Amino acid sequence: MKSYSCPAKARHCGGCPLLDLPYPEQLRQKQQQAKALLGDFCEPLPILGMEDPLHYRNKAIATFTTRHGRLDCGLYEEGSHRVVPFQDCLLVDRRLAEILHAVLDAANRCRFSAYDEDRRSGLLRHLLLRRGVETGECSVTVVTPSSFFPGSREFVRLLRTACPDVTTVVQNINPRRTSAVLGDQEKVLYGRGYILDTLCGKRFGIGSRAFYQINHTQTERLYRTAIDFAGLTGTERVIDAYCGIGTIGLIAADRVKEVLGVELNPEAVRNAGRNARSNGIKNARFLHADAGDLMTQMAKAGEHADLVFLDPPRAGASEAFLNALLHLAAPRVVYISCNPETQRRDLTLLTAGGYRVDQIQPVDLFPHTKHVETIVLLQREAL
Ligand code: SAH
Repeated sequence: MKSYSCPAKARHCGGCPLLDLPYPEQLRQKQQQAKALLGDFCEPLPILGMEDPLHYRNKAIATFTTRHGRLDCGLYEEGSHRVVPFQDCLLVDRRLAEILHAVLDAANRCRFSAYDEDRRSGLLRHLLLRRGVETGECSVTVVTPSSFFPGSREFVRLLRTACPDVTTVVQNINPRRTSAVLGDQEKVLYGRGYILDTLCGKRFGIGSRAFYQINHTQTERLYRTAIDFAGLTGTERVIDAYCGIGTIGLIAADRVKEVLGVELNPEAVRNAGRNARSNGIKNARFLHADAGDLMTQMAKAGEHADLVFLDPPRAGASEAFLNALLHLAAPRVVYISCNPETQRRDLTLLTAGGYRVDQIQPVDLFPHTKHVETIVLLQREAL
């Protein structure tokens, strides 16, 4: 069985720890992991793997550094602050790799310098690239320590000439000494400030600070399976919790009565509202709130929901969220998770509170990494 080898050889960024394992073996291990963690609730279905598990990442993040007197960029070496030069990564979209080189070329021609964290001097900190794989639109976000960005117009001109598919360029300002790449403030240097992509037939605008799944092919399979599990009939009142830019709720909207999305990130929730409008969807609303707070309020107000989608971050759902979910007692819950350990914890609480796990579908969203994504269908037991 074939395995792959990273062009950067021994200089590992830590981004693909399973690369040496043949892909079918990776899938076998992930299946086992899903079974070990969730098998007590119900037997997981066979994991959905990729046919061609390379170059699936539609997003790349790199850090600027200085090498041989020139601006360069790359990835932090695992567990350190040393920047490993970006070699043509096997996971990143091929076009994004070309754009990364074009950004470096334009920045070097503008004589930009890399930010030095210790001396607190220099111009460019990080780079975030995204590509809408169906539309071909790309966004380039450069992170600077302050709003000061002399030469930005020339930089945009050079970059746009080399790569006309870069449809938006954003300056993100992050003055803090932090491991977080992005700051809160942004300035659009070119274009709309976000890219468009299509997922399951719907159009989505994606800003640089909003969450968007990085593997387009597998995300479509993930959402389709989640919506299939939901068994929608057109009459449901649906909550899309931790909704990001509204993807799951908007894809399901044609098949339900009403969608209420909730999301904590202000840019993502603005994107979600705009995405509803641009798709002509009138039965979806998106609220900017903590999902646990909103659910608690709804439970107190005696509101009802027929179905809850939840897709929380790695930490899983909050206890307040889960308790409110038990109060709301939605007949069906579809729980998408990127961390089966916290999902197991949350399922333990939900099954003790009256739910039954009916289906578990693992999906390989991140080949060559240790991550496994799982979709779980829960149904309320008859009382
Ligand atoms: N369902 C979306 C996003 C999933 S990622 C998609 O598939 O694209 C998880 C999302 O939860 C992120 O957008 C994050 O900003 C949001 N989030 C994190 N904590 C939250 C909270 N306490 N309440 C609501 N949303 C939260």
